[in-house]
Amino acid sequence: MADEIRKGLYRISVPLPNSPLKDLNSYVIKGKDRNLIIDTGFNRSVCYEAMRKGLAELGIDLQQTDFMLTHMHADHTGLVTRLATQTSRIFFSRIDARVFDGDHGWQSLVDFAERNGFPAEELQKALASHPGFKYSPQKMPVFTLLDDGDVIECGNYRLRCIATPGHTQGHICLYEEDQKIFFSGDHVLFDITPHIESWAYETNSLADYMASLDKVSHLAVDLVLPGHRNFQGDLKSRIDALKIHHRERAEEVLEVLGNKTLNAYEIAAGMTWDIDCETWEDFPIAQKWFATGEAIAHLRYLEGEGRISRNAGQKIVTFSAVRP
Ligand SMILES: [Zn+2]
Repeated sequence: MADEIRKGLYRISVPLPNSPLKDLNSYVIKGKDRNLIIDTGFNRSVCYEAMRKGLAELGIDLQQTDFMLTHMHADHTGLVTRLATQTSRIFFSRIDARVFDGDHGWQSLVDFAERNGFPAEELQKALASHPGFKYSPQKMPVFTLLDDGDVIECGNYRLRCIATPGHTQGHICLYEEDQKIFFSGDHVLFDITPHIESWAYETNSLADYMASLDKVSHLAVDLVLPGHRNFQGDLKSRIDALKIHHRERAEEVLEVLGNKTLNAYEIAAGMTWDIDCETWEDFPIAQKWFATGEAIAHLRYLEGEGRISRNAGQKIVTFSAVRP
């Protein structure tokens, strides 16, 4: 269950049933006085059991353990309040912490989805099936807030926080410079592509993501420890491939749009998706949700490049290509 990666550094594989991600990698550092757990799994019993078993195998005393969460998604944060004890510090991005502030709730997301053509009658179903809605922490965690450049020390590891907005606005990677280890969270994954979505037109999350890829591409790194799956190849060439992937996706959005005027939901329905369904209608509702969010991120990116225009005058926002 728990594998040793380097001296005093371990990985627990936490299963994520029904998720295409398959597992979450929870990294555990055993220190002299305190231990550190990086990411936790969903708040659901199958994840909790896997963590409990792995931590018991490693002899981790939760009374002497702190947590670091790379970003706000429920597969990374969900279990933290069940595992944390009175003495645990929970290190977390100042920016992503706003999501737990109450007012940044789900209703604004639902309203935004509706304005982007998501069928109103499917919205409540989409929300109910969203893993973030089902498997987030039970209660509001008390965070020790992190900013770019902060350092967390544990055992022989000195982890520098690198703000990498894109996958979420407050995503943080950790870099151990002496040992050339990079904890990439969901910023860089290897045999799957990180999901880039946008649920507000104020943010251009794909542009942020591309800049955050550039920000870490020149780090001296021997080992990347991603949030899901395994490290393959090297960091720099994976980053190059991810950048090409998103440029191609943006071109695909332009092709789907052609000379029509479409909303984001219609554009998502016209794009190709790596999913086992014959037609868009057959997509599970949660996948339609993620696809629409990803289409919006690419639309916003193209808008930022001046290649499409957004028509926000009506009830439903539409897009059309800008003629050169
Ligand atoms: Zn994530």
